[in-house]
Amino acid sequence: MAAAANDMFSRKACVVITGASRGLGKSVAKIFASKFPSTSLFILLSRNVSNLDVVKSEILENNPNLTIAVKKFDQGNLDQTIYDTLFDSVFKEYNVTADDFEQSVIVHNAGTLGDNTKYASDLSDVQTVQANFDMNVSGMILLNSQFLKKFSNSSKGRSVVHISSLVAIQPVPSFSLYCTGKAARDMFFRVMAVENPSIRVLNYAPGPCETDMQRACREDTLDRTTRDMFQAMHTEGNTLDCDTSINKLVELLQQDQYDSGAHIDFFDDIGGHIAKAKLDS
Ligand code: NDP
Repeated sequence: MAAAANDMFSRKACVVITGASRGLGKSVAKIFASKFPSTSLFILLSRNVSNLDVVKSEILENNPNLTIAVKKFDQGNLDQTIYDTLFDSVFKEYNVTADDFEQSVIVHNAGTLGDNTKYASDLSDVQTVQANFDMNVSGMILLNSQFLKKFSNSSKGRSVVHISSLVAIQPVPSFSLYCTGKAARDMFFRVMAVENPSIRVLNYAPGPCETDMQRACREDTLDRTTRDMFQAMHTEGNTLDCDTSINKLVELLQQDQYDSGAHIDFFDDIGGHIAKAKLDS
């Protein structure tokens, strides 16, 4: 399908991607980098800077003029100073300001399973439960606020993409922490979307993609039926390549027809969402 006239990929952007070191985040970084103007600035975040450097080099091979900042960032470390200074330090290093960009984009991709080796009734370890919500919910909210504070000009395009999951709306045995975190993130962004009509917000569920997390789902999951389901998906070739899913995300963003705050799955019929948005308008 053709891109919308205001295709976000045609405008110079500051693009922030969390968990860009591997898996889906790496795919977002590489594919988005090939789409946005080369005058854009990409800020790649994760705990593993060497992996981020590899992603950066791979991108620069095809897009040598793009500016790419890599920054060590642990979303589970809720230190106020880290959040308060993160974007300032990158902007200072690259000598840019928010005004240098026509739009800003953040992709909240970083995520963990929490603990898929236990049922809900056995989650008695304070540290495990707290670490899950620090990383998957609180840290993400705090980073998001810093991003919007930095890009506060509501007349410029601002897009927030949350890499969600089917589990945000479907309970899965052994995945109570993961499901709860994704549901909380979805709702957070639904609220943000109604509070801020000028921000485009998308909760995108990427489908089952071949990553470290997907391997942990089929190897570590306590619940037998759930584990078998993940194993079968893998052996029967029903998992997705990350790039396939992220190309669908690109298509959704290009068409720009989703209701802000919507939860859209890889397997959803994009045409259906467009039709619904038109009916609602
Ligand atoms: P991976 O486990 O392969 O990668 C997770 C990413 O998150 C890594 O880049 C990792 O970087 C980063 N990360 C983990 N912990 C932290 C932390 N404390 N601080 C900062 N970054 C962190 O996962 P996927 O690529 O599979 O998943 C990416 C997103 O997609 C997740 O939100 C996941 O829930 C979602 N998703 C995945 C599906 C799948 O089938 N794979 C299906 C549905 C949703 P590093 O280790 O360098 O810090």
